[in-house]
Amino acid sequence: MNRRKFTKNSIKGLATAAIGTMSGNLLVSCGNSVQSNIKLTASIPMPIQVVIDDVGWWSGKDGSLYQEPYRTGINRNHVIADYKAIIDLGKGLGIRPQAAMVLGEWDRQNILRNVPHSTWMGENWDNSKWVGPWLDETADMITANQQHFEITVHGLGHEWWTNGKFSRAEWADDEGIMRPKEILEQHLDAYAAIMHQNKLGELPKSFVPNAFRHSFGVTKGNDISLAELIMNRGFTYINTPFESMFNREAVQHGIFGVDSGIITVDRGTDIFDWNVIGPKPEHGITGPTCGLHWPNLLHEDPERNAEIVQGWVDLLAPYNERQDTMLAKNSVFFQKQLAHHMVSKIEVKDNELKLDFSEAQKLGTIVSNNELTVNVTSDKNIAFSSDTIQIESVNSTKQADSILYKLNLKLSDQPMASISFKSNT
Ligand SMILES: [Zn+2]
Repeated sequence: MNRRKFTKNSIKGLATAAIGTMSGNLLVSCGNSVQSNIKLTASIPMPIQVVIDDVGWWSGKDGSLYQEPYRTGINRNHVIADYKAIIDLGKGLGIRPQAAMVLGEWDRQNILRNVPHSTWMGENWDNSKWVGPWLDETADMITANQQHFEITVHGLGHEWWTNGKFSRAEWADDEGIMRPKEILEQHLDAYAAIMHQNKLGELPKSFVPNAFRHSFGVTKGNDISLAELIMNRGFTYINTPFESMFNREAVQHGIFGVDSGIITVDRGTDIFDWNVIGPKPEHGITGPTCGLHWPNLLHEDPERNAEIVQGWVDLLAPYNERQDTMLAKNSVFFQKQLAHHMVSKIEVKDNELKLDFSEAQKLGTIVSNNELTVNVTSDKNIAFSSDTIQIESVNSTKQADSILYKLNLKLSDQPMASISFKSNT
């Protein structure tokens, strides 16, 4: 997120303009800081959330050449160790990665026979070959590790089949036009039913449109948006690249928008293509979402998945040690921290941090009742106190010639707050 990257991104067009805005905000946050007798800078760090697509297949085969789904493209079946890789990534970083799951191959009762456009077999759908003890084993492991594995809806079959032939994709077509809502309701019902079959819990609250076919707002021939359709089911958040999102010009806050009360976050550009198996990530991320596809986290030999996971831990861990970024502990924290990062203000005045949440409060429930992290870098040991905001905890890390403090705050409904700091030596 340095200047050079900002400049480079800003000439690449509309989608990266959002990243430009974000970088601008970062610079403003830091630039607001002034020196008092203590040398100190403060910012509302950009949160980073890991989102992993196309989790859930048992077959790895890319079937797109013969009217089966684009799966993961890995030349073997998926195994429980592939799910464990996600949990291990979460444990390694203290985060809860989103697994954007396709659940068709978890259907124990062939209910997709009765769900139009959901599979290549139509009414003859037969999933018996993928029904076995691995379903219970994997579901149990996911349930026991929920702090490090969030199920996000991606789809049933990933594509949209008509008479055995697919088009892209399940929730919207190539023009971003939402599929007929009555049928999508059936797809959501089936998704919830397959979760229940496998004791995976209730319908999730987060959503990644498959093949990134998506529109912001209502599309031609429809009376509600996809965002509203899923909001009615309790969803709160969509993550998708704005570069391929239709009607992106309606997005209100650069890197995120609010569509029928649902926060929609720009995924930006993934580091790797969807079918790159077991890479070693060496380039940093360019925005708040670290987007992957499942094979990007896996080894061809599942017993060696840990080697690939370690590469991602090594890449991402340093973002928690910076003034301007942090790893989100889960996607709910992520949404709220991101909104504040973009619209709330922080500045240093005399021996106080002044916080202004008035713009964030206009966003309503998206940021209500939330926690917030503020990062402070100081050349001295300092102590913080406040009468206007609750400081839940302060963590400090010694760095080369400074100390990085992370203040975890509990927000009230007050639009302004201030935090005093003084030398603690
Ligand atoms: Zn996908």
